[in-house]
Parts: sequence; C-alpha cells; structure tokens
Amino acid sequence: MVETRRRSARIADAKIELLDHHTAPESADSDSNSSALSDIDESDFDSDVRPTKRQKIAGGQASRAVRKTRSTTVKTVTTRTKVSATTTTSTSTSITTTLAATPIAKPKATAASIQALVTQIFDCPFPQGNEPPCHPPHPHPLTYHNPLLLSSPTARKHRDALLTWFDSVSSSRQMPWRKPWIDTTPFVSSSSSATCPQDLKEAVAQRAYEVLLSETMLQQTRVSTVIAYYNKWLAALPTMQSLAAAQPEEVLSLWKGLGYYSRATRLHALAQLVCPPPEEGGYDGLLPQTVDKLVQLPGIGRYTAGAVASIVYGCAEPMVDGNVIRVLTRQLGIRGDVKSKEVLEVVWEAAKRLVEAVAWDGTDVTEDGREGKEPPVSDRPGTWGQGLMELGATVCLPGPAKPKCGQCPVKDTCRAYQEGVKIATQKGLVPEGKVTARKRVVDIEDSCTLCPLPEAEESDKQESDTGTKKRKQGEVSAFFDKFKTSGTRRKKDAAEDSDPAEPSSAAMEVITSHCCKYPYTKPKTKKLREEECLVVAIRRPSDGRYLIHKRPAKGLLAGMWELPSHTLPADLKWNDGSAAMKKDKVRMVLKDVLKEVGVSSWREKEAELGTVPWTFSHFKLAMHVWAVDLVKRDEVGSEGGEGNAKMKRWATIEEIEGENMGTGMKKCWELVKESRGR
Ligand code: SF4
Repeated sequence: MVETRRRSARIADAKIELLDHHTAPESADSDSNSSALSDIDESDFDSDVRPTKRQKIAGGQASRAVRKTRSTTVKTVTTRTKVSATTTTSTSTSITTTLAATPIAKPKATAASIQALVTQIFDCPFPQGNEPPCHPPHPHPLTYHNPLLLSSPTARKHRDALLTWFDSVSSSRQMPWRKPWIDTTPFVSSSSSATCPQDLKEAVAQRAYEVLLSETMLQQTRVSTVIAYYNKWLAALPTMQSLAAAQPEEVLSLWKGLGYYSRATRLHALAQLVCPPPEEGGYDGLLPQTVDKLVQLPGIGRYTAGAVASIVYGCAEPMVDGNVIRVLTRQLGIRGDVKSKEVLEVVWEAAKRLVEAVAWDGTDVTEDGREGKEPPVSDRPGTWGQGLMELGATVCLPGPAKPKCGQCPVKDTCRAYQEGVKIATQKGLVPEGKVTARKRVVDIEDSCTLCPLPEAEESDKQESDTGTKKRKQGEVSAFFDKFKTSGTRRKKDAAEDSDPAEPSSAAMEVITSHCCKYPYTKPKTKKLREEECLVVAIRRPSDGRYLIHKRPAKGLLAGMWELPSHTLPADLKWNDGSAAMKKDKVRMVLKDVLKEVGVSSWREKEAELGTVPWTFSHFKLAMHVWAVDLVKRDEVGSEGGEGNAKMKRWATIEEIEGENMGTGMKKCWELVKESRGR
C-alpha cells in the first residue's frame, strides 16, 4: 500500500513536471503529497502507446521539448511516464529524466487544430473568469486566455468602460475621418440598395470611401503624417467616382511621400471596379457591406474589410491591427509567437466574440434569444473597434515607451497587468491581496499549448526556492476545487473587481515592464534573400538632363520612376569583382538602355559613387550606383519615340525631384547629386 502511494506520488509529480519547466526536479515526498495525490486515478493513463526512441537529454531541456507538444500529445507523454514509473525504483528525478527522453516536435497548425484550440479556449463548459494570474512560464490552462472582457462576472461593466473612455478621447487627435455614424439600419436590412433613399445611399457611399481611404493610408503610417495626405487627397479626388476617373500619375503624385505605393495603385484599381453599375459587375460606387465581398476587392484584407463593415455599416465585425494585437495579447495573457497562425487566429476569434458581445450589449435580447442570430447593426461595433485601436495607440503602448496602465479603462480584465501585479507582490512592492491569495489552476488535459517557454524570471526563481512542494499540491487541489467552487469564486471575484487601490510608481514600473513582454515575437531565423543591382545615372551633354525610367504598372514599386537599373546575377558578387569587370557590366547596361532611346553610338566617362543598401519586406537589395557622362555631343540627342517617352525620358534635376520615386532610389539620386556638388 505504501509502495502504491509512493508510485502514485511519483507519477503525479512527473505529470506536474510536464507543465512546470522552471522547477528543478526533486524527490517525491509521499507523506506531504499523499492527501492530494491519492485522488489521481492511474486508469487515466493509456498504456498502449510506448516510446520508440530514447535520447538522454538534460531534464530542463527535455521538459521544454515535451512542453512544446499539443494537448493531444500530452496524453501520450503521460503514458510514457507510467511506463517509466513502473520500471523505476529510484526518485522522481530519474522518472522525470526518463520521461523527458523523448522529445516530440510540435505539429504544424491545421485548420482543424486551430478550431480545436479555439473551442478549448472559448467554449469551455464550466464558468470562466476564475483562473488566477499565472504568467507564463507558469502552468496554466488554455482557458486562461479566454478574455476576461467576455468571461469575468463584471465583463459588461468593463466593456462599457472602454466605450465611455473612447467617447471621451475620440476627438483629441483631430482625425478628420472620425465622424458620427450614419444610421445604416434601413440600408443594411434592405434586400437591395436600389430601394434605399438616394440621399442615404450617397451619404453611406461617401462615408465608405473616406473610411477606406483613411484605413488604407494608416497602414504602416502614423496618424500625424496621414492627416495632411488625407485632406489633400480628398480635395483632389473627393469621391470614389473621381478616383476611378483619375490618371495613374495623379494618384501616385497624391501618394508621394507616404511610401508603400502599391496601396495607392490598388485603391485606384478598386475604385475602377466598384464604380460601374451592377449589370457591369460593379457596385455603383458603393462599397459592399460584407467582409466576404470586401476582401475580394484589390487592396482590402481582413482588417480593412472589418473596419469598413463595422465603422460604416455598423456590423459586428472585428478589425485587428498591430495595436489591437498588442492590447488583446495583453488582455488575454497570450505569450505565444504573435506571428504564428494559432495565436493570430485566437486573437481574431477573441476580437470577433468581443465585438459581437458589444453589439448585443446595446439590446435587451437575452443570451438565449441570441442563439443563431446576427447581432443588430449600430454604432457600437465601430466605436468598440476604434476604441481598442485608440487604446493601443495612446495607452497600451509597446516597449520601450511602456503602457500607461494606470490610465487604462480595462486594466481590471488585463491578464498581463494582473501578472505584473503578482510579480510586484512577490517583490514586496504591492501588499498581499486579492491576486496572490488565489490558488493556481492546472488542468493537464487543457494545458496551454500557445505559450512558449520564455526566459527565466527572477520572480520564478524566488518562488521556486520557497514554495515548490506547496505549490504543486496547491495546483492539483485547485484543479479539482474549481468545479466545486467556481460559483462562490465568481461572486468573490465580482466583489474584488471593485478594489480601487493603485500600485505605487515602483510597483507600476515592474507591472508595465512585465506587460511589455507582450506581444511576444519569436526571433526570426530565416535570413532575408539578398540581391544586388546596378543603378546608372546617365547624363547627356547637350542640356545636362538625366535619363529616367518608369517601372511597370504591376509589381514592386509599380509605376514609379527611377534611374535605369539592372539586377545582377545571384552568383556575381559586385564588391569582389575587378574594375574591368565592373566597367564592362556598366557598358553593357548602358548599351541596352541607350538603345531604347535611340542612341546607338557614344563615348562615356563613368565613376562608381557607392552602394545604397535597402531592405524591402521580403528581400535586401544592395544598389551599386554609377554616374555616367555621355561625351559625344552630336550623337546624343534623341529622346526616343512617343510610345517610349512614357517609359523612358531625359529629365532635368527639378523634374526628377518632382517625380514619384521609391525611398531607396531617392537615396541613390541623393548620392548622384552629392557627387555633382548639388
Ligand atoms: S492594463 Fe496596461 S497592458 Fe493591460 S490593456 Fe491596459 S494598458 Fe495594456
């Protein structure tokens, strides 16, 4: 009997070890653990699965490898624990080491596995909102990431707090695109937009155009920069129809300086698709209302579609940009790689459920009455979405600025904040209170597979030194307790939520530093592709003009002007080449380029000016810049035929300055001007 209890203790200890990777393995203590551990039924373990390969690796590393498995593999691992346990007569340390000997690679995320993850987090059958703060790397169940803004007993109060806060700050940054919502109820509920009043239709179409324009400009660009561009654009192209009729050059010139020029060309293409009447496949100048239709248009992704559907049409659709990702990963306490599909899908799902909850909050419809129905349209979804973004842009700041958690209207539902309070408490900066008084819950089957193992933290070491055994027992007890006490705890949580105490500035420093660990991005291991190209600034002697070239209408830097360039073969390393080889290459480029403008014979003086490195989103480019002066005056004069002049022409310095050029090419041009003493 004693031996059976000891074995149970070792098995249970090893189960906990799977989740607690910051705790050094230690000997089982059957006396101290027996009361809790005797409740664990070994029949939970499946003995049919056996390890096939064993590699001896250190306990910590192994724990890490095992921890990376999905919840479906946790069962397999516990089976191995049993196999080990029945053959091991030593301490739990040896069990853990043997257990850890079979690292299992994390399976690739599939639609089904992501759906399972979402179900585990959001559709938990027992009441939510009761998992205590337990910042990763501590063990926590997947349900820990169910937003407290949805599941806390006072969730509605906190959602309202964010809306109220946004109402109070929405005009402070004076964004011209923020306007009162036009009630689209008759419009959205109508089966055909043709039956809607014309003035409402025009007002909604205009609003949709403005929201689309502002959201497109705001991608990767600061609000303060966008405001001037937005006003200038609307003055020149006030409607979707005027954009559709504009020349590509005008569109690009209005965008000049904003960068990412493909946004402008796609916006232009979109207007040309949307403006024709429905019988010609268009939308009569009015953007469609649904996300499904919106994402089929050029330049509209999931985020922009959500913004148009919610801000313009009042539909309960999420919009998740970088700011919202930061706010929600902190609110949900998700420490997984924010670039991973799983984490992004969980964030989108949380955003979707939140905006739906906010839309329903504005009605008297009970939970039961919502089943199978779409939330009604109103200004609430758009206000909520913009509120989340505003919070991310002005309060929930990334490091090193640090979030202003003291000003946050939803800090009571923020996992990262709660975790920070817990760390500050451990450091003695916050008095023991509501946060630390709760027990940690560990549900092995539902253990989180999203959060990785971050670096060791001081607080964890302290805790490891002082309370490992006690904690393990508490974890297992809490696992069983939660089913019995969740109702009581929810009431207690509701009362505790009203605690007004504010942490000291020293404590807040610790808290906000912790919050800055979210969102987590796994360091990139993939190296960007590297390319080299030759950029040749050709000046003709007759009038000192330079030859410039227009890029194709599609692809990278579409429709932009540049100095003639030539991509070098991948196996040619320019800086390792001889002077003769470089000159030959320049002459070869010159020959091809000048032929296109009708110059067949020339002499030149050339000079290498330097290299401009430039990084695009998907590759790095080294641009080797050369200046070439053509010297045989008589033979240099042709500017090419009419058709060619649109793609290549001789331009003055002032004209070049006025053309749309990519930022990297502009730097090359600066180098040329510098070499000429301009
Ligand atoms: S409490 Fe702090 S970290 Fe959490 S959402 Fe608010 S500002 Fe962001």
